[in-house]
Amino acid sequence: MKLDAKNIRYLSQEDWRVLTAVEQGARNHEVVPTPLIVTLSSIRSGATSVHKCISSLAKPGLIGRVRNASYDGYRLTYGGLDYLALHSHRQSGAVYSVGNQIGVGKESDIYVVASPSGRRLVLKLHRLGRISFRTVKANRDYLRNRSSGSWMYMSRLAAMKEYAFMVALRDVGFPVPEPVAQNRHTIVMELIDAFPLRQIASVPDPAKLYAKLINLILRLARFGLIHGDFNEFNILISEVPVDAPAPSDPTTTEAPSDSPTPTPSSNPDTPPQIRLIPTLIDFPQMLSISHPNAESYFDRDVNCIKRFFAKRFHFTPDTPGPFFADAIKDAGRGSGVRRLDIEVEATGFSRKMAKELEGYMKEVGVDGDGEGDPGVGVEASVEEESDEDSDEEDYDVPEPEPQGTVAPETDLPELETLHITD
Ligand code: ADP
Ligand code: MG
Repeated sequence: MKLDAKNIRYLSQEDWRVLTAVEQGARNHEVVPTPLIVTLSSIRSGATSVHKCISSLAKPGLIGRVRNASYDGYRLTYGGLDYLALHSHRQSGAVYSVGNQIGVGKESDIYVVASPSGRRLVLKLHRLGRISFRTVKANRDYLRNRSSGSWMYMSRLAAMKEYAFMVALRDVGFPVPEPVAQNRHTIVMELIDAFPLRQIASVPDPAKLYAKLINLILRLARFGLIHGDFNEFNILISEVPVDAPAPSDPTTTEAPSDSPTPTPSSNPDTPPQIRLIPTLIDFPQMLSISHPNAESYFDRDVNCIKRFFAKRFHFTPDTPGPFFADAIKDAGRGSGVRRLDIEVEATGFSRKMAKELEGYMKEVGVDGDGEGDPGVGVEASVEEESDEDSDEEDYDVPEPEPQGTVAPETDLPELETLHITD
């Protein structure tokens, strides 16, 4: 679903109040009754003004009227939620303008944005349930039986979780984007100038890159964590010239090159030597090494990399493993090593939230970018369903978009400035 920031400039202060009121009402009502919107907006000029605001919000699809409910009401759309989040990011000074989309995942949209000082950043909008809503009967039944607004709440939990882990991982030197801000279902982070491993046709030394990635999995385990979706879509590979310093590459301790000998820069015929630096992204499925299914997720992460290296680079490691039991032997031990799984629980993303999110992801079949499930999902039991029997005629389910990525462009067009009335 597209994030179209241009309408943001046309919203008045009162429109923002009404939009916020619909969001507030949506906590307890799937369809927020119009009289409740009027009350929550507390606009002095009364119901007529609120109704005017409602139509100006409904026109660009920020709220949607639900006609066949037993009462007249509106629900917040992802578009409306996007605007509320952008508004907050703008007010806190994290985001000044919005550029183009650089990634489309199954459960998210990724945009280039800029800070007030012009620094290019990434805005990730979590969209849990976007695909699953329409296609999977089990999801629909599940969602019907749940409290209202669960897609919104769950997308927010996914963003909170991702942000909490990004902060913790970055803090101990893992190669992850710098986290900048989080609001509602969104995260703002550093833009990594790199391609996903998926888009890399060949590398000079596959064994070396493989070792780096396996080291990353092992290092995560020592810090109490399993990525849970460690694959070629979620590893960005930067190419750094050998003579440039690369302080943020803790995945290697040896000579910092994929090609063993640095080239003397005096020889113009020799191509410059580069080293490949992986950056890990996409953390909503992160789990603790103490999780009951930890071992199968660990194995899946390892096997994803093995499978990809065999297929793409025709590389197969000489030794089996690594194995979960060995990987967790020293978890939490050693100088500077911490149990991030325990720490993150204490920083606001609680165990209860983690369980809620995990339960939801399993129920709606969220399984990350990789293929296959280590045997704990519900995919096998769900069936495709046409939309014919929908009784929610106004239910605005965006079309699923093809999954894939678009490489960051070097020359980005002008970013759209967010004109927001405060
Ligand atoms: P999803 O959960 O939908 O898979 P990801 O976080 O993996 O979302 O992002 C999807 C794609 O967007 C990535 O494969 C990558 O190409 C791009 N992307 C995400 N975050 C960044 C970033 N910080 N810098 C550069 N590209 C990014
Ligand atoms: Mg991803």
